[in-house]
Parts: sequence; C-alpha cells; structure tokens
Amino acid sequence: MTAPVPTIPTSVDVVVIGGGIAGVCTAYYLARSGVKVALCEKGRIAGEQSSRNWGWIRKQGRDLREMPLMIESLRCWHALIPELDEDIGFKVGGVTYLADNEKDLQRHEAWLESVGTFQLDSRMLSPAEADAMLGRTDRRLLGALHTASDARAEPAKAVPAIARAADRLGATILTDTAVRSIDREAGRISGVVTEHGRIACQSVVLAGGVWSRPFLENIGLDLPQLAVRSSVQRTTSAPRLSESTFGGVGASIRPRQDGGYTVARSGAAQFDIIPAAFTHFWSFAPTLRAQWRIMKIRFGRPFFDAWGQRRWRDDQMSPFEAVRVLDPTPDGVLLDDVMRTARQLYPQLAEAVPAERWAGMIDVTPDEVPALGPIDAVPGLFLATGLSGHGFGIGPGLGYAMAQMVRGEPTVVDLSALRYSRFKEPGGIVTAAEV
Ligand SMILES: Cc1cc2nc3c(=O)[nH]c(=O)nc-3n(C[C@H](O)[C@H](O)[C@H](O)COP(=O)(O)OP(=O)(O)OC[C@H]3O[C@@H](n4cnc5c(N)ncnc54)[C@H](O)[C@@H]3O)c2cc1C
Repeated sequence: MTAPVPTIPTSVDVVVIGGGIAGVCTAYYLARSGVKVALCEKGRIAGEQSSRNWGWIRKQGRDLREMPLMIESLRCWHALIPELDEDIGFKVGGVTYLADNEKDLQRHEAWLESVGTFQLDSRMLSPAEADAMLGRTDRRLLGALHTASDARAEPAKAVPAIARAADRLGATILTDTAVRSIDREAGRISGVVTEHGRIACQSVVLAGGVWSRPFLENIGLDLPQLAVRSSVQRTTSAPRLSESTFGGVGASIRPRQDGGYTVARSGAAQFDIIPAAFTHFWSFAPTLRAQWRIMKIRFGRPFFDAWGQRRWRDDQMSPFEAVRVLDPTPDGVLLDDVMRTARQLYPQLAEAVPAERWAGMIDVTPDEVPALGPIDAVPGLFLATGLSGHGFGIGPGLGYAMAQMVRGEPTVVDLSALRYSRFKEPGGIVTAAEV
C-alpha cells in the first residue's frame, strides 16, 4: 500500500528542511513565536541520527566554541519537558568520564581547566570515588571527570514528542516529503520545490544532517561535511548502581528508561569513503590524522550511488527520495567486543545481553563543530547542520537560537564561531585540539 500524499501548504514564512533534532527544535521555537512554519522531512521524524544516538545531554567534554550554546540548551531541555505529551526519559543523572591511564586522566584535567570561566559543576573524582560510583573495589581506575548537572533522554521518544508539540503550536509537519531544491527570485529565497509541489516562503533553514552537503552541492554551494558510521546496542534490563552515564575505557553506557543500558564505544567510528571525501580531503586532513588510529576506513558502497549523485533537476527524483531513511548496518564484531568490555568494567552489566543493535551515520565538519547561520550567497537561506556527533544535547538551544536568527533578532548567545563562512576563510578551520 502506498502512503497517502501529504497536503502541502502553498505558502508559509519559513520552510525547515529535515525532521531531526535540529530541524524539529527550530520549527518548534519558530511556531512558538507565531511564525508560520512548515517542516519537510523526506522520511519519518527522527528516522536518522536523532533517534539512533546515545541520548547523552552533556556539557562535559564539549568544545569551548559550543559551550555557551550548550549551557543555553540545557535550560531549554528543562523548559521543554512540561510542554511535551510524553515522558521522554529526561533525567539529570550526571555524566562521568572514567580514566584508567595517565593520558586520559590528564586530558580530562586539561579540559576541566579550559572551562574554568564557564563556572560549571564539573569536577575530578578520586580513584576511590570513581570506584564507588561503579560499585568496584579493585582500584582499576585512576580517577574520573564528573558533571552532576548533565542529563540524558530517550532520543527515539524526544524528537517526535517535540515535533508533536510544534504541531500543537501551529507548525505544519510533513513527513515523506523530500525537498528537491530551493526557488529564488532576484537571488533571494522565494520557496522550495518538494516532491509534492512548491511551497512559497521567505526563508529556508537547511537542517538535513548528512544530506546537507549534497543538497547544497546541487545548488552550486560547497559544504565540507563527511559522514562516519557509528554502531550502538541496547541491553536487556540490568541492575542500576548509579544514575550517571559513563564514558571511556572501551565501553560507554547510558541507563535507559526501559531498564536496560545503551552500550557503545566512543571513538570507534567507521569512515565511509565517498566522492566528497576526495573533494574535501585537505579540509579534513588534520582531523583524520588525529583520528586515524581509532577509525576503520572503507568504501561507502551501499549508498554511494544516491549520495554520490551531484546534480538533479527540480522535476527529477532526488537522492532524498531514493533513500527515505538511512539505515546503515551495525558492526557486530565491534559490538561483541564492546559488550565484553562493558561486562568486565561495569558490575551491573555482568549478566546483561544485547537486545537490539543499530547504526547511524554521523555528519562531521572538518573542525567538528556545527555550521549555523546564514549563507550570504543566497539571502534567506540558513544552515543548521554539521552537528558532528554531539547534536542531540545541543539541539534545543540550537533551535532556539536559529529561530531568533531567522526572525532577524540577536541570538541568545554569540554564534559567530560557528558561521558557515569560516570554511572559506584563511585559517577559518580550527580543529578542537587548537582551540
Ligand atoms: C550512534 C550515534 C550516537 C550519538 N550520540 C550522541 C549523544 O549521546 N549525544 C549527542 O548530543 N549527540 C549524539 N549523536 C549526534 C546526534 O545524534 C546528531 O548530532 C543529531 O541528531 C543531528 O541532528 P540533525 O537534525 O542535524 O540530523 P538528523 O537527525 O540526521 O536529521 C536530518 C533529517 O533531515 C532529513 N532530510 C535531509 N535532507 C532532506 C531533504 N532534502 N528533504 C527532506 N528531508 C531531508 C533526513 O531524512 C533526516 O531525518 C550521536 C549520533 C549517532 C549516530
């Protein structure tokens, strides 16, 4: 049975492209301020990264350029909860990064020192405190970095619930509606062309996750953005020794609302080589060099064809219709190893077994921070993408700030470090290690 064709509005103020956390939160805050907004999602709400992530909402370990927005985002999460129609598993349980070697310990200490001006509640835990949190007594750990005010939520519930809240505020939420391209009049945005017809508008926010780069390439604009595959699993129910989310030492875990744990390994991503990898090689070289040892490289054949397609016309099927929901295969060998490590490290997981496994494609910029703001070459076009593997937590703050920007107001925090134009400026790409 084919899905009914959605009824699209003929005209709105703003079209948001993408029903992940970036697009949904932007649409929510635009609708809340009375702006007539339509969100177009090619598949289903949060079908890609935004339902597949680990669910960590953290300031801890953040790049300094994102910190003001992340602090604002946590405020937004707290304010959002009473507005939602469902318990999304939001809980302030803290985030803890474990260290079992001097190098990791020093890295955590250096980060803590670097964020001194933000007056966070982050602190180092002694080996005894770290052991106690895990329920261990063998002093395997040298210490840990802990932020008690950090939180977690269930991604698969959170983003659809925010989309329903946006709908109640008057936003038009369209699924199975790919946007093929934009329309311009005298150079500025005048509408979008969807697979179901045209929507006239004054502004467009592109929040397309990994699809933002091909969307822009088709209209002659460049975005250095690649994708890495990350595999995750959830376990059956297991005892709860701590409400904290734990990271590091080969296995990271988050307590889930269903009584199990989300278990994965940080820094164990797989890099799929697609044509864009060659185009943007030099922009990514410093980051790739830094991550080389922890990344598996392979040719991204399964979606090479759709993703590699660089040009199409408005009246032609686009790559977005060809791949409604990007659903990569998880790396079972890696996840077996992660599960073994997790059982050894976390006493509460000793008896737990995997209940489900999945993977997601994470969109990454060369400096691993988002690209947020206007694209000057096309007045009325805004970018909210490149969230680089940590966009779930920052999503509500991002949506709040993007809505302000689109309305032509000053943003709640300065976003200039995340401007799109930095990619073209000499010295504009600064890697996290250089900040
Ligand atoms: C395994 C994994 C673990 C992660 N863990 C965490 C974590 O613990 N904490 C954290 O903060 N972040 C985490 N992240 C990162 C986080 O999930 C992402 O940064 C965030 O979800 C990106 O949101 P987005 O809205 O930009 O993109 P997406 O969620 O990918 O949404 C983009 C949407 O746009 C749609 N789209 C694209 N082009 C078009 C078009 N032309 N027309 C219509 N629709 C279109 C797509 O179908 C898609 O649904 C993780 C990610 C993964 C994959």
